[in-house]
Amino acid sequence: MSHQYVYYFGAGKAEGGAGMRELLGGKGANLAEMTNLGIPVPPGFTISTEVCSLYYRSNRTYPDVVRTQVAENLNRLEKEMGKKLGDRDDPLLVSVRSGAAVSMPGMMDTVLNLGLNSSAVEGIAENTGNARFAWDAYRRFVQMYGDVVMGVPHDDFEEALEAVKRGRGVEADTELNAEDLKRVVDGYMTVYERAVGKGFPQNPIEQLWGAIDAVFGSWNNERAVKYRGINKIGELLGTAVNVQSMVYGNWSDTSGTGVCFSRDPSTGENYFYGEYLMNAQGEDVVAGIRTPEPLSSLENANPEVYRQLVGVKERLEGHYRDMQDMEFTIQEGRLFLLQTRNGKRTGRAAVKVAVDLVNEGMISKEDAIGRVTAEQLDQLLHPMISPGVKKTLKPIAKGLEASPGAAVGKVVFSADEAELWAARGEKIVLVRRETSPEDIGGMNVAEGILTSTGGMTSHAAVVARGMGKPCVAGCKAVLIDEDARVFNVGGKTYGEGDLITLDGSDGEVYAGEIELEKPALGGELNELLSWADEIRHAAKRIGIEDGFMVRTNADLPQDAKLAVDFGAEGIGLTRTEHMFFEEAKLSSFRRMIVADSPQERVNSLKPILRLQIEDFRGIFREMDGKPVTIRLLDPPLHEFVPHSEAEVSELAEELGTDAGKLLKRVRGLRELNPMLGHRGCRLGITYPEVYDMQVEAIMSAAVAEARAGIDVQPEIMIPLIGTAAELEVLRANARKVIDRVLDGVNVRVDYLIGTMIEIPRAALTADLIAPHADFYSFGTNDLTQMTFGFSRDDVGSFVPEYIEKKILPVDPFQTLDASGVGQLVEMGVRKGRRVKPALKTGICGEHGGDPASIAFCYKAGLNYVSCSPYRVPIARLAAAQAVLTAK
Ligand code: PEP
Ligand code: MG
Repeated sequence: MSHQYVYYFGAGKAEGGAGMRELLGGKGANLAEMTNLGIPVPPGFTISTEVCSLYYRSNRTYPDVVRTQVAENLNRLEKEMGKKLGDRDDPLLVSVRSGAAVSMPGMMDTVLNLGLNSSAVEGIAENTGNARFAWDAYRRFVQMYGDVVMGVPHDDFEEALEAVKRGRGVEADTELNAEDLKRVVDGYMTVYERAVGKGFPQNPIEQLWGAIDAVFGSWNNERAVKYRGINKIGELLGTAVNVQSMVYGNWSDTSGTGVCFSRDPSTGENYFYGEYLMNAQGEDVVAGIRTPEPLSSLENANPEVYRQLVGVKERLEGHYRDMQDMEFTIQEGRLFLLQTRNGKRTGRAAVKVAVDLVNEGMISKEDAIGRVTAEQLDQLLHPMISPGVKKTLKPIAKGLEASPGAAVGKVVFSADEAELWAARGEKIVLVRRETSPEDIGGMNVAEGILTSTGGMTSHAAVVARGMGKPCVAGCKAVLIDEDARVFNVGGKTYGEGDLITLDGSDGEVYAGEIELEKPALGGELNELLSWADEIRHAAKRIGIEDGFMVRTNADLPQDAKLAVDFGAEGIGLTRTEHMFFEEAKLSSFRRMIVADSPQERVNSLKPILRLQIEDFRGIFREMDGKPVTIRLLDPPLHEFVPHSEAEVSELAEELGTDAGKLLKRVRGLRELNPMLGHRGCRLGITYPEVYDMQVEAIMSAAVAEARAGIDVQPEIMIPLIGTAAELEVLRANARKVIDRVLDGVNVRVDYLIGTMIEIPRAALTADLIAPHADFYSFGTNDLTQMTFGFSRDDVGSFVPEYIEKKILPVDPFQTLDASGVGQLVEMGVRKGRRVKPALKTGICGEHGGDPASIAFCYKAGLNYVSCSPYRVPIARLAAAQAVLTAK
């Protein structure tokens, strides 16, 4: 027997099934499956995706075997229906539709009512006793065939229709009678002949092959190719073609058509949701010409069909074990299903449906975890623009989706203004070229942040994510003039006080105020996440006692609290630098920076010590019983001093020192590449007083809280280590301070001293560093920066183009570059554990909240991921998904 290219479905039995999506496309596979389930489906056959691929490979022709199989299956269909294509007395009519393995709604072509010609139309008129219906179907067919198969301009047909309507003095198509429609068909025939150069094909087999050609041809039309590009739909064979006998919702008053979902796709409620129209075709429902009825009213209008439909819904949902989106037609009181698929749903519905299906015994908890995507969960955690509204909007600019959620506010251009406006009770959006640590106060009071430069790990992006604030970063089209307090975009100027809306989930910026939907957290979400936790905790491996854990990056007690509420199991990174920007500390710290002698430095740090102890105590209290990793100071000192002469003079006055000398000192701190300069542990080596003070603050806070009955678990983390000797020195320094603090103390405080692996050399020499480290935390922001040699603050200027040109698949600051940077992570874990088998390892770079990177971290053997508080729920889900996929 020759290879099978065409698959029949009908008479309660199909040659295909749901498992054959690749070959039959989603629609064909589901039609076959439904047929096998005994669901009433109009019979037909599917020409496989292999034929699409053959068609293109053989210069848009078909091998004879395909033509023979199509003819055999058509024959079988005609027998089953007891009708013949093109027959004068009782013609068979078919639809010819596309259907690829991945749904591409509306992207490819369809031809309906195929088989009509000048004699079949008479047959239909007689059989239905409805000449108007027959001529209307013929007119639609000629137009659709002309448009889709032969490329006849749509407007030419419209003109011919309008001419008849004008002649009759009517407005709506529905006011035309059979005679009028006959005239429309005549007009269409002329239009067709003029455009194509020959008459409309009367031979139904010629029509059929024309339509099949058109559907296969539409696989590579511009919009379909673009859609596959945008949705990253890769290597598919092509589309399948489904030839199916037509059923008509507009056959009579006992006919109708509708769309329904087995559960509500926006809330997930277990409620049979849908719409239908009697005496109408599917396109009438879609086009919005008539307002459809809610499905509930079908129960009264036609209880028998409704009962059948409920039965079908239950059957299909039970079979596919997921919420179904179904299309149905009723012809003369008989129900037919035309399509079923897993329904698209909002984040809220995704969670509710997954949890309900577990509780109804339909799927396992593991299945439920796999059913909800990180994006869907994200929708639940931030205010958003409702998808319906979103469709109607036009953005004024688009930048990077740096921190999710939507925000509305009045534009301000400086952090100081932001604080002033917010103090007046105004909602504001902070618009800056870029942000720096001094802007923290302004960012904190802003609804959202918009920057015109910087990438996914720029200051604005990292801090906004930490604060859970929407942020659009690197929005190049926005040209900011901070002095004039305006920005220009697309030729328009927006000034201070103008309202704008940001959508940090897709990087879009809109003019004016757009209404937002509030996030809805509920019982189902907690239930789902508790299952995720069970799965993560059960994933015990060497060196991992508690399973695959989720920590948070939090700098303040209130952030820590929020993260614990979201389920964080520890802190993976407290960046202490933000604490120094508080007014009470900044002046002492600046005094320390410009001090002439070590003793002067120690003295300047004293007031900070007391304040830092309070900072850390607050965090330990919130994290009672959980590990807290505190990183010693990381950024270069120049970030803490002002730069303009006027500001330096002001500071000199405040510090009671000479302005000229101070200016020289400030200039001396300036570096050409501060990110690769005097920062991290290099500060600890050259200004040991700073790290000593911080270690003392951490341990004193730990002792004080331990005395108060809190279970404290401090983990001191030293940043930017590149050589074992650096860590050896700094560990010894820290130990000295710790021994002093703990000396004679009557409570027990266990602590760890570890390091970040964020410089390639640290990963390469992880075996030499390990003897001095109790843990490794991968700082993949710096590790990515230094491995690629991409400045993390400047990637906005070229990485988007790299992605567009497919030089990079994704932004490596967003999703860990598994094949490059990932090797260093794997090597760091492997070499470290070779020396210390139970070495605790984690990640605290921004990748710790990204699902694909979390999956990588699990495979690399890390013990935990750490991310901003608002991403903790997503990380819990993604970590469980990582465990399940690795099984
Ligand atoms: C890192 O480099 O990954 C990291 C967490 O540190 P920071 O972003 O503060 O440099
Ligand atoms: Mg770093």
